[in-house]
Amino acid sequence: MDAGVVIVGGGQAGLQSADSLRSAGYGGKITVVAGEPELPYQRPPLSKDFLAPGTEASPLPLRGEAFFTDKDILLLRGIAATAIDRPCRNVSLDDGTTLDYGHLVLATGTRNRTLDCAGARLAGIHYLRTLADARALHAALPAARNVVVIGAGFIGLEFAAAARARGCNTTVLEFAPRPMGRALTPVMGDWFAGAHARLGIGLKLSEGIERFEAGPDGRVAVAVSTTGARHLADLVVVGIGVLPNDELAAVAGLETGNGIRVDGCLRTSDPAILAVGDCANFPHPRSGERIRLESVQNATDQARHAARTIMAGAAERPEAAPYAELPWFWSTQGPYRLQMAGLANPGDDTLVLGDPAAAKFSVLCFRDGLLAAVESVNLPADHLAARKLLAGSARISRLEASAQGFTLKAAARAMAPV
Ligand SMILES: Cc1cc2nc3c(=O)[nH]c(=O)nc-3n(C[C@H](O)[C@H](O)[C@H](O)COP(=O)(O)OP(=O)(O)OC[C@H]3O[C@@H](n4cnc5c(N)ncnc54)[C@H](O)[C@@H]3O)c2cc1C
Repeated sequence: MDAGVVIVGGGQAGLQSADSLRSAGYGGKITVVAGEPELPYQRPPLSKDFLAPGTEASPLPLRGEAFFTDKDILLLRGIAATAIDRPCRNVSLDDGTTLDYGHLVLATGTRNRTLDCAGARLAGIHYLRTLADARALHAALPAARNVVVIGAGFIGLEFAAAARARGCNTTVLEFAPRPMGRALTPVMGDWFAGAHARLGIGLKLSEGIERFEAGPDGRVAVAVSTTGARHLADLVVVGIGVLPNDELAAVAGLETGNGIRVDGCLRTSDPAILAVGDCANFPHPRSGERIRLESVQNATDQARHAARTIMAGAAERPEAAPYAELPWFWSTQGPYRLQMAGLANPGDDTLVLGDPAAAKFSVLCFRDGLLAAVESVNLPADHLAARKLLAGSARISRLEASAQGFTLKAAARAMAPV
């Protein structure tokens, strides 16, 4: 008899896996082991609307309470999986129980990288990943005057814009020469550097954190940077990236390396165990490389795909096709809505369409002469058109896109239906 599916992790990827399995007609037992105590919630608002002045510190749930009873999905809140016994096909939990599985889905996500410089543990220094983190910031922000953010990645800059909107003096320290440099083209990174300066945020590039100093009350008071500059700080947010939660898999003997390594069908080195979302390191046919993505799109699309893999296995159907969804992402930083379709590479040839001065434009990225990714600011229609073009078979050349009157919308409209 099928022992059911156990899903470790009650985030975006874990819940979507459970939902998609039921929607695909899976009739066995589904258990979600969710390490956090709350009803599973959406993370993206935590660094955006959740922190806006006058808002309640209430999260947006991923699914309502009724979903779990209606779909007959057992949600174990505040319980962590501690070990996987692969020969016996069961998972040990930190409440002393074990769960048998037919298939196991690891959707364990990531955790924040932490700073270890002098003073890094002082009161007033925060991180932002969980609802508990966001609640602590929501409570601290009204009294904050001088905010320092370490790291000009998406979350750091979203938080900086939120703090600035509340009137805080806000400084961001980034040791790289550009904000969001790992994910954005230089032209877009440079535009955002200017945009944050116009919001009144002190974005200090090529300047890392050296140490924090405490005030007489023992709380953080000054952030001293690698240039020796002293920045007043009564509230600090550290946003220096994340690490995949792959230890459970590694200890169980599964292949890991920047995440849990999976094949095109999202199976780990043990075919009864799959991994999805932020924790999964997968071969991406579009880039031809192994990558790990941190986005809602990737978490939900991989979860849907994993459900198909499990269902194909249960019905002894031929293997599901490899996972090949187009990556896309968004970030809201004050008045700027950034949306990306495809993955930009540092060496891409770029073309700007629209009006950067009016904060409404797109950066088209070409690789080998063809459109490979599009970054848009405050142009959702361009973003949707780019997703359609990049997911489909259209091949837009740089020459074509440079022609007078070219628009992404018109090109997408002209495309044959996918
Ligand atoms: C503040 C913030 C803002 C963001 N904004 C955006 C955005 O604008 N756009 C976007 O696309 N993405 C955004 N993201 C990223 C997006 O939220 C993640 O990519 C997505 O949530 C990943 O989902 P996941 O299920 O893979 O992992 P997670 O959401 O991290 O969920 C994993 C869950 O597994 C649990 N877990 C781990 N180990 C165990 C264990 N052993 N036992 C039980 N449970 C365990 C964890 O506690 C966690 O609850 C943001 C993230 C953050 C933190």
